[in-house]
This record gives sequence, C-alpha cells and structure tokens, in this order.
Amino acid sequence: MDMVLKGDYFDGQWHSPKGASDETLLKKSPADLTQTLWEAHVWHAHTEGAVLSAQKGFDVWRKFSFEERTAVIRRYQEAVKKRGDAIAEALAWEVGKPLWEAKTEAAALVTKVDVTLGDSWKRIERKTIKDVMPKIDGHTIMKPIGVAFVIGPFNFPCHLANGQILAALTAGNSVIFKPSEKTIYSAQLMMEAYAEAGFPPGVINFINGTGVTAGKLTSDLRVRAVFFTGSRAVGKMILKNTHQDLKKMVALELGGKNSSIIHHDAHIPHALPELLRSCFLTSGQRCTSTSMIMVHRKIADQFIDEFKKVTERIRVDHPVLAEKPAFMGPVIDAQAEKLYLDFCAQGLKEGAQEIIAPRKLDMKWQGHYVSPSLHFLEKADLKGKFVQEEIFGPNACFLPYDDIDEAIAAANCTEYGLAAAVFTRDASIFQRCLRDIDSGLINLNRSTVGATARLPFGGVKDSGNFKPAAVSMIDHCVHTVAALETTDDTSSQMSDVVGLKD
Ligand code: NAD
Repeated sequence: MDMVLKGDYFDGQWHSPKGASDETLLKKSPADLTQTLWEAHVWHAHTEGAVLSAQKGFDVWRKFSFEERTAVIRRYQEAVKKRGDAIAEALAWEVGKPLWEAKTEAAALVTKVDVTLGDSWKRIERKTIKDVMPKIDGHTIMKPIGVAFVIGPFNFPCHLANGQILAALTAGNSVIFKPSEKTIYSAQLMMEAYAEAGFPPGVINFINGTGVTAGKLTSDLRVRAVFFTGSRAVGKMILKNTHQDLKKMVALELGGKNSSIIHHDAHIPHALPELLRSCFLTSGQRCTSTSMIMVHRKIADQFIDEFKKVTERIRVDHPVLAEKPAFMGPVIDAQAEKLYLDFCAQGLKEGAQEIIAPRKLDMKWQGHYVSPSLHFLEKADLKGKFVQEEIFGPNACFLPYDDIDEAIAAANCTEYGLAAAVFTRDASIFQRCLRDIDSGLINLNRSTVGATARLPFGGVKDSGNFKPAAVSMIDHCVHTVAALETTDDTSSQMSDVVGLKD
C-alpha cells in the first residue's frame, strides 16, 4: 500500500514545508519489517499555526446552529464511508490488526456519527424547568468550551479519536487532533474525510508529532480542552501539565487490568469464545482486554483445560496477506514485543506458573509476531508487577476461587478499574459483582471487549478521571449556563425592597 503523508492540516489546508524538520519518524510495518510504510516530518512551529487556526475556527463554528453543524458532519460521514476500505487496509498495515478486524474499526467511524448526532446531542440540548420560581422558568444551556486538543493512542488510531472529535464538533468546539506517532497514515485518511466535508477553515486541524508536540499543546493556555486516550503514565503527565489551568477541561481515558469471573454455573460453550476474544483480540492490545480470569474452583480444571485447547488453536499471521484470516496479527513494535516477553518472565519470578509459555514466532514475515500465553496465579504474588501492571500483550492468567467475594477482591486488587465481566446464570451473583467491583464497565455473560458507543465508556481509579467517553463524551465538551427567564417585567416594585431610606 502506498502511504503518502501530507503533513499537518490547519487554516483549511495541508502544510508540508520543504527543508529540515524538527523530528523525523520512520514507520515500518509491524507485520513485515522489510516494509517501510512512511517517513513523517514534524515541525514544532506548526503547533502555533494550529492553535491560531483553531481559535478562528471556534469563533465561526460556535455560532452555527445544530442543524448547520449536522449538515457538515453528515458530509463527513459520507466522506469517511467512501474511504472505509482504504482506512481498514492502512490500519491493518500500521497497527498489525487483521484486516477483518480493521474493517470493524473503519465501519465504526460511520456509525459513530449517528450516535453522536442522536443519543449524544440529546444530552446537551437546551432544557427547561417550568416555574422554578413564581412566573419564572429555569433553563440549562450547554455552551462549547473552545479549542479542544484530541490525543490518540496507537491501538485504535481512528475510532477513539473520532468519537472525541465528533462529540467536540457537535457541541460547537474546534479541534486539533494529534494521532499516535505510530499510526499517522490511518489517522490522515480519516482527516482527509473531515477536510472534504467542508468545515469552515480552522474548525478541524491535524498535527503530527510525539510527546514534544503534545506537551506544547496540552500546556498552551489557549487550548481549553484536552481529550486524551492512552497510558496511565502519560495521562498523569498531562494532569501535572494542566492542573494549574482552571480554564481547561481534561478528560483522560487510560489503561486497564481487567477481570472476567467464571462462576460454577456459567454456560461454558458461551463463555469460552467470549473470553477468547476478550483476552487475545488485537493481540491483547486493548484497554479492555481481559488479563485475569477468576474461575470457580469446582470447574477450574475443566475450564482451564478447555481454554488452553482453544488458545492453542489461535492463528497468528499476517494481518493482510495471510492465506486464511488470522485471529491475531503482530504486536505494534519491538518495544511491545520485548515488554510482553519480559513481563511473562517477571511473572515466573513472582510465582506465576506457565500454562502456555509466550514465544517469539518464527514466521515467513519478519514482524513482531508472538504467541498468546496463559499463566496460573494461585501461588503468585498478587502485589507483584506481573499482576499489577497492564501488559498490553496476549497474556491471560487464571486464579481459582471458592467464594465470590474472593473473586471480587481479586478483581479489585490492582490500581486500575476499567472493565469486568461475570459469567453466571445467578442474578444475585451478578448483582454482588455490580455492587462491589470497582470498575467503569461490568458485563453479564458478555466479554470485557466490544463496548457499545451508546453507553458511557470509561474507568475509575487509575483508568480515567471520571469523564467517560462514548455517548457521554459530549458532556465534557460543554459548560453549563443556568438562566432564569421571565417575560413578566412588571412584577418587581421599589416598594417591595426592604431597608431603603425614605
Ligand atoms: P501512550 O500513552 O504511549 O500514547 C498515547 C498518545 O500520547 C500518543 O499520541 C503519544 O504521542 C501521546 N503522548 C506521548 N507523550 C505525551 C505527553 N507528554 N503529553 C501528551 N501526550 C503525549 O499510549 P499508546 O501506547 O499509544 O496506547 C496504549 C495505551 O492506551 C494503553 O495503556 C491502553 O490501555 C490505553 N488505551 C485506553 C483506552 C480507553 O478508552 N481507556 C483506549 C485505548 C487505549
């Protein structure tokens, strides 16, 4: 696939100056390191151009009615739909996710428009409370915040940023989007669709770069909102950079260390495929991937044995060129590959036992292919790094339990709190989990991955800062104005004022 980068987009046009840039980024496909996909150039001075552009864009866009905004956003929907195949192919080459999976991400860009203009918009529509005081109505009016800076992660280069961009635009903000430096081309294709839609210049802007660019923009006082999806470490850095700026809204969607509980009455033929997907889709590189599986001791041996067998059947292969579709492609880069293997080695030192050992795979293609791994945690140190940290690779661990409270305590044992799943036919067991697990998503007989855009999506503890994305993302794109309104302008009399001199 020919991937030509266009540079940065602001003032309604692409900017790619000739001459030396401040940073050069070289991208090789994780699926085949002999394939150089692109070379990106980063110009730090472009952050200034992007901010000025976004300020101008905001001043125009905030005055558009919802209907006027909708017309432009619908044109974006058509433009991004048209590019679906190209976006999916770019995602597969850049991230390494199998093409069938990449297509689901491309399709989500289209449906997200409907959810944002439908379900999300309703949350910020003007609301009236009749007669809050005698002859006075109360209103809440949601106003856009200003220039919003959206920072994307590598694992869903388009979909996650798209949700935040659409929410921000629908509410009347302007946007600067910086994708992950690992996945610029997929993000650029989505950006081309925004450019084609005909937003007024400056409403939507695109900037390439690493943490240097992102750091400049997060601490810029003219940027009024930062919407970040990524790791806990970077999220904390952003908070540190921004907490003195009271004018800034910061929404953080961070990592997870997610649990699935398999109770003794679970319907195993259903639980197995759900769990397989939640542990290993995207090579375990999802914030919602299941890492820990608490399984009731009564069924533990049989369940682990069956799960081991299906895990061994996972086909790891080239995301695009495999003869038969792969379940899993490579991990994103050499660092991710090393982290995965190192984490598993650390697990052994901390008492975890191997059920399936992780391996670097020797493939026809020279890429970052690793096998999925399984560990048993009964003798492991639950406070150790292996259990506590997000591995972001294809590993899952089993821990047997006798009483549901033990399983809940294990689910709560890390500092993360993003997603959990409970497989049971006992409603009271699920209710206990719902009440006692500290997590933003808790599913019944449904895996931790594959959330819906129509519900809020976000975690507690170190998984976020109480600003869930998906349908509720729009809540963080506005501030609320309260207005008392009356048409009766004769009801106040000077004679009613107490304490005046005669
Ligand atoms: P990352 O934190 O390494 O990078 C994310 C983005 O932050 C990139 O665009 C990067 O350039 C930028 N960045 C780097 N330094 C920065 C700085 N100082 N200031 C501001 N931005 C900076 O994350 P990643 O490896 O791309 O993605 C994986 C992580 O994202 C995992 O932890 C995963 O769980 C998390 N994630 C969370 C969600 C969610 O919705 N909760 C979804 C997807 C991924």
